[in-house]
Amino acid sequence: MSAEIINLIDKLAADRSLSLDEWSAAVKGFSPDTAAYAAQIALEKRREIYGNSVYIRGLIEISNVCKNDCLYCGIRKSNKKCERYRLSKAEILACCKEGYALGFRTFVLQGGEDPYYTDEILCDIVHSIKASCADCAVTLGMGERGYESFKRLFYAGADRYLLRHETADETHYRKLHPENMSYKARMACLDALRDIGYQVGCGMMVGSPYQTAEHLARDLKFIETFSPDMCGIGPFIPHAQTPFRDFKAGGAELTCYLLSLVRIQKPNILLPATTALGTVDPDGREKGLLAGANVVMPNLSPDGVRGKYLLYDNKICTGDEAAQCVKCLAKRVEKTGFQIVQNRGDIKKSKEQN
Ligand code: SAH
Repeated sequence: MSAEIINLIDKLAADRSLSLDEWSAAVKGFSPDTAAYAAQIALEKRREIYGNSVYIRGLIEISNVCKNDCLYCGIRKSNKKCERYRLSKAEILACCKEGYALGFRTFVLQGGEDPYYTDEILCDIVHSIKASCADCAVTLGMGERGYESFKRLFYAGADRYLLRHETADETHYRKLHPENMSYKARMACLDALRDIGYQVGCGMMVGSPYQTAEHLARDLKFIETFSPDMCGIGPFIPHAQTPFRDFKAGGAELTCYLLSLVRIQKPNILLPATTALGTVDPDGREKGLLAGANVVMPNLSPDGVRGKYLLYDNKICTGDEAAQCVKCLAKRVEKTGFQIVQNRGDIKKSKEQN
């Protein structure tokens, strides 16, 4: 096993910081051995803060209508084969009600950038969810919006916002997105969310087209400096109706290694074992937990629309009902030795709050 990489991982654990060159060496130093070493330290760190707990989030995919044309995404507007849908307020509230009964205390409303969800409509939905379950957190993942819009949603009761930065390299960003989207606009949104007071999540795909080890190093350096509360890291998976259909999927093992590095850098971060990870590897989510992830996000979307929110091909859990999905995932989590807990699952700021 490479002594240089082991030293770097130890340094990361001690200093919680690496230079860009060191991050780059750490990424390039990925091997089954270094990954196992990193996972072991990551697990110790997560245990110190979160014990055996795994937090669950009820994911509600509220719309697959999108005005954007991200080259990797299956619900991009140019995909004419995508059968579009959007959920009404009543449908979303019904999902939350069912989720609440199943033990969820966080609901994640995710969707394409659908102009239908004006501030007025979305604020009303957020407000109604919070009014019907005051002990729940609401997370939004609705893409880029203006500062005032984020602010209104925050004051309507939204607690968290997920907006993956996708890549922290501007040139790479341009290769993944059409010209009317920009790295700067994405980053400005993340700054706005932080400024307003949200718990903020960023993140990236692993193995996205044209991605290099240097790009991943920049992602890790960005995560280190931005210090998000949450970070979504999952493999890129091609979708047949996108320009990236012929690229290959990102690897589960590299994804897990990166999860470990992020956990070591920021022990209290909320890190999901993503659906994409469970799609590239049937045991991917378990492997993610064993690499340092501490969050899972079962799908609570209504049965009829699940098969339509396809960001990538072969997505898992598109056939199950919500209750089935939760049961199955709970069993999988328990097999890893962790325990799903029934609370909001906010970030713990320090060991003392444990
Ligand atoms: N419109 C929202 C939600 C996008 S979907 C937003 O812009 O934030 C959530 C995430 O899924 C994206 O941020 C992206 O990182 C991921 N994703 C999209 N297409 C994917 C693909 N083909 N493979 C893997 N992940 C993908």
